[in-house]
Amino acid sequence: MTWAQSRDRMVEQHVIRRGINDRSVTMAMRTVPRELFVDPGFEEFAYEDAPLAIGQGQTISQPYIVALMIEKADLDAGDNVLEIGTGSGYAAALVSRIARHVYTVERHEPLANQAKRRFEKLGYRNIDVRIGDGSKGWIKAAPFDAIIVSAGVPEVPSSLKEQLDLGGRLVIPVGEGEPQRLKRITRTGVSQFEEEDLGGVMFVPLIGEDAWTARHPMYTPTTPAPQARTPKDLIANAAEEFLSIDDRSFTTLFDRFARSRIVLLGESTHGTSEFYRARAAVSRYLIENHGFNLIAVEADWPDAAAINRIINGRRASGDPPFQRFPSWMWRNREFSDFVSWMQAENSARGSSRNEPIRFYGLDLYNMSGSIRAVLDFLDGVDPHAAAAARERYGCLSPWQNNPATYGRAVLTDAHRSCEDAVLQQCKDLLERSLEAAATDGDEFLDAAQSARLLAAAERYYRTMYYGGPEAWNLRDTYMAETIEHLVDFHGPDAKIIVWAHNSHIGDARFTEMAAGRDELNLGQLCRQRFDGSTSLIGFGTNSGEVLAASNWDGPAEIKKIKPSLAGSYERLCHETGKERFLLDFDRSKELHAELVDDRLQRFIGVIYRPESERLSHYMQTSMPRQYDAFVWLDETHTVTPLEDPAMAAGGGDETYPFGL
Ligand code: SAM
Repeated sequence: MTWAQSRDRMVEQHVIRRGINDRSVTMAMRTVPRELFVDPGFEEFAYEDAPLAIGQGQTISQPYIVALMIEKADLDAGDNVLEIGTGSGYAAALVSRIARHVYTVERHEPLANQAKRRFEKLGYRNIDVRIGDGSKGWIKAAPFDAIIVSAGVPEVPSSLKEQLDLGGRLVIPVGEGEPQRLKRITRTGVSQFEEEDLGGVMFVPLIGEDAWTARHPMYTPTTPAPQARTPKDLIANAAEEFLSIDDRSFTTLFDRFARSRIVLLGESTHGTSEFYRARAAVSRYLIENHGFNLIAVEADWPDAAAINRIINGRRASGDPPFQRFPSWMWRNREFSDFVSWMQAENSARGSSRNEPIRFYGLDLYNMSGSIRAVLDFLDGVDPHAAAAARERYGCLSPWQNNPATYGRAVLTDAHRSCEDAVLQQCKDLLERSLEAAATDGDEFLDAAQSARLLAAAERYYRTMYYGGPEAWNLRDTYMAETIEHLVDFHGPDAKIIVWAHNSHIGDARFTEMAAGRDELNLGQLCRQRFDGSTSLIGFGTNSGEVLAASNWDGPAEIKKIKPSLAGSYERLCHETGKERFLLDFDRSKELHAELVDDRLQRFIGVIYRPESERLSHYMQTSMPRQYDAFVWLDETHTVTPLEDPAMAAGGGDETYPFGL
């Protein structure tokens, strides 16, 4: 009997007779030479309906089960598919004959390499193989139309569900013991899934962070025992603990950054009290002890200019600052206390030779002010266009990923046709701010700089109007240019502290932002432009509560922060059991080397959507390359928003310094 005849017999006897009818599956099985996927000497058994050993204690699955799983994955010719547990490569080869592209992950290097050689030999070019832990999926290649898992899990990893496209199918053996149940999970909505039971199966365990781990009672390790120095141990060793953010044991940790010209302080949410208080404490310390005197923050320049006037003893003019969404970002008790301190410090400096503290907003183009103008305009002419704009702006600030939502924010004709009118409004807004600055004697925005701003305004507002990665890049580029101008304006001794979200200050080249979306950011540009004199410091947390909205322009809500995901940097920090510490990546080569490979990191901005957290708020990053240091605060609390200025009309001091 020829190999082709053996294949036909296998398909008839073991596949069709047992109820598999999908022609694309049976065709693939008649085509792929299974004898090339078994170990030498076992070819004669290749077409029996049995699993066979393939080395490393693993097996090539029984043909019927492979056929069943592929049939249940319901593949189409255009599909993007992930197969976890490459093993011999046979299942991936079958899928590659049906779908557009297959990504497959195997934890045993020799098996993965052998499978790669087989695909090359057969000329199957639409398969990518990765060596690693597939229990976390393959984020960069997601979303998938189908995911097939060829090993058993105790429970369905949420990371895999989140990597399914809308309508995508996950076929996976699940269960604590044997046999497991074969399940099909279908994504029916952003956070909705349907589950079906397809019967009993026997699979080897999927061994990984989001599956069977060495700590699980059901799992007896066949792999070497974990090394004595795990990433968690290395973090615990390197962690420089402090008593509290109000204690000198915290602030003096920043002496090491005193020689930098620019120190950028991040935050992993826009609504956490501890991040504001920690940055205020560090800023006070650097100002009092190390000659820093400029603070530049991720905020609209006209609002920040009002604060600058207040702390420098000048009368504020115009509306109270920071009244627009997301007002709690700056209109909060923590920041207000810092403003009072800056004011007191400046008046104590009086006529001494110490330069006063100055406070600036990095968004010279008045981003939230302009977004407000766009939304007000669109709300009036076309609520659909306004809704789409709100969704799109949700992806602008700060890093946020939500392809499904973004997809819904399709531009209407009305949206396009409003472009010119809206642009004109934004430009008028800018001109009015520049005029106010001129009458105010704001020397920083001199005539030359104002002219430069006006010349580039058309492009800025047009790009911002439509949202998307180009708008992000333009915004961060202008923020970096503002810093350059501040340095030029204040001379060679100027030392600046920047407050912005982690997604703006961690070097984007070492995150998914650059790899997957061609995005750059402020931290990267500062490093490139002020080489050797920039320090980037990230801040993170595991759990607690945060103030955030559910949608752009929505009300601020107190939201529970979900404990960090397995496989994330945050989880490693949490597992050290230490509540607060600084990690300095330059101080431990071993730590740097251990953490340098990409892991998940969480980003919560003005919007937090816990229901789709993995997809919306986590991305792959290399933390030690992104930041010079990372501050860990295990449990955190919400910022305290100040009263709405309208409600506080008669409230007097309550909203100081905002109730002007
Ligand atoms: N699909 C394979 C085939 O066609 O030959 C059979 C897969 S075999 C039953 C299961 C495979 O999953 C093994 O090769 C095993 O090494 C692999 N595996 C187990 N845990 C894994 C993990 N976390 N990531 C990737 N592969 C894993």
